[in-house]
This record gives sequence, structure tokens and C-alpha cells, in this order.
Amino acid sequence: MSGFSGSKYCWMNGEVIETEKALVSAMEPIYYGIFEGIRAYVEDDILGEGDLNIFRWKAHVDRLFRSAAVTALDIAYSKDELLEGTRASIKANDFKKTTYIQPRVWPKAGAMRKRALGTDFHVVIPTSFYDTDLRKEVLSKERRFMVSSWRRIASDALPPQVKAWGNYANSGLARREALRLGFDDAILLDNRGFVSEATGACLMTVHEGRVVTPPVTASILPSITRDAFIKFISEDLGIPVDVRDIARVELYASDEAFLCGTGAEVQPITSVDDIKLGETYPGPLTMEIAKYYSEILAGNVSKRRDWLTPV
Ligand code: PMP
Repeated sequence: MSGFSGSKYCWMNGEVIETEKALVSAMEPIYYGIFEGIRAYVEDDILGEGDLNIFRWKAHVDRLFRSAAVTALDIAYSKDELLEGTRASIKANDFKKTTYIQPRVWPKAGAMRKRALGTDFHVVIPTSFYDTDLRKEVLSKERRFMVSSWRRIASDALPPQVKAWGNYANSGLARREALRLGFDDAILLDNRGFVSEATGACLMTVHEGRVVTPPVTASILPSITRDAFIKFISEDLGIPVDVRDIARVELYASDEAFLCGTGAEVQPITSVDDIKLGETYPGPLTMEIAKYYSEILAGNVSKRRDWLTPV
């Protein structure tokens, strides 16, 4: 199983340091932090070793600054400085395989009680090896989901459109409930009762040859992978994509369903509440989409090269 394991060096507040020296005060309000989850893939051969490209750097760094604006956190570095920090973190670790990048911003002790600026916040960029799941045998693994008894957080209470650690307590409740009940993961409904997203990824379904995905107003994170998928599925693969609310019963009746996200990449769903989806697993459109996505990540799709930023 792939995952975020940490590494020897990280970039912290302007310089590359050993991760074990990235020490902070135990009194810091880490719960209020924001972050990004970004990946870099190997040029030509995403399963092998070689030069890395960061997937959709600009979209991720823009979302980080939007998250900061909404939560009234301040980032003392420019977007270009964070790109250089990311490159420095990857190079210090000498990574040549698929890499996960997780910029984090959080207040130092005392910063929550004043109108804090720049240096009142930590900015850390850890990087780590993160194996890709875009392989046929991993894709075909069974994934049993349940509809969570927990609702996705509402936008007017704790906005899911912001990538803040606090939101992951909601995801954690749903994920832990699913594991306790013997499922692999959960799909949450929004506070209106429509399908929202999974605990750490967005959801796409297939209905009669059309890909359907819930709108941002269904309490989802505006996923950068979802945005890329909407574009390439419709524009490059010629498959129609509908961004619209999905009723719970429609989810059960879908021909195919899969998760999409930076970490999840493409993860087909076998069943929801033990109701099996579709005739074949993984479904044909899911496989076509996963294959094309891995070509984009490898830099083999010229019209999507501008989604890749060299390390
Ligand atoms: N929803 C949630 C709750 C997530 O944690 C993630 C992963 N960041 C996503 C969706 C997918 O977003 P992205 O494609 O930007 O990684």
C-alpha cells in the first residue's frame, strides 16, 4: 500500500533542513492548519525512475493561497518561492520516483489571538516517495464502499472547499466507521442528502455512457484531479461529462463508479452498501480513463503537457 512516509529532508520557513530537526512548539494550534497534496511523476515512465514533473503545480498553489485567504492565514512566501522550495525539498532527498508533496501552513503559538501576518505562520514542504496505483492489478482490486451515516460538513459551518486539516475529522469519522463495519471506505452525502464525495477523493459515476460527478455546491473539495478529468474526459476522450447532483439511489444504479484525486488517482468501486455496480469490474470507461490519465502524467499527451512542471 502506498502512503505518505516522510523523508530525510524537508523545506521549512525558507530553507532545506533535516526533517528530524523540523521541531515546533507543542503549544501550536496545528488543528487550524491548511495544506495541499500534490504529486510529481516520472517523465515517460510513471512506474520507473527518472526526471520528475509536478502535476498541476499552479492549480495546487492557487488553491493553497485561496485556503489561506478563507481561513485568514498568511503565507510569507510567494508562489514562485514555494515552487523553488518544493524543488529544493525533492532534490535534497534525491527523489527519482513518484513523489508526494504536501505543503503545510499553520499558526505559531499565540497567532490565533491577534491579526497575525507572515512570520506568525510556519510553512513546511515535506516530500516523500509515494508509489502509483495506476497499475492494472491494483486497479482491479475489490473496493467495497458504504454510504456513511455521517453527513459531509456543510459549507456554511466548516467549508469543505478549503483544504484544512479540521475538515479531515469529518472524513476520519466516516472512514473509521466504514473500516469498523468491514468496508474499505465510505461515500458521504451532503446536508441535503445528495451524494458528495469520499473521505479523501472525489467521486465519478457512469450512467449510460455519460460520466457524472457532483458539483462543488454538493460540499466537495474542488479537486484538481476532478477538474482535469472533467476536461480530458470530455475534450480528449469525447465522453460526455455531467456535473450535477447525484441521488443516493442513482449511485446504487450506476454502471461504473470510481474515485479520483491526487492520492487516489483512479480507484474503481466494486459495490456500495453491498449493492454491486455494473456488469464488469473495473468498468470499461473507468479503465479507459485510468489509462489516458497515466499517459498524461507521463508527459505523453502533448495538449496536456502544460499540466506538468519540471522539477
Ligand atoms: N476530496 C477530499 C476530501 C480530498 O481530501 C481530496 C484529496 N486532496 C480530494 C477530494 C481530491 O482532490 P485533489 O484532486 O485536488 O487531490
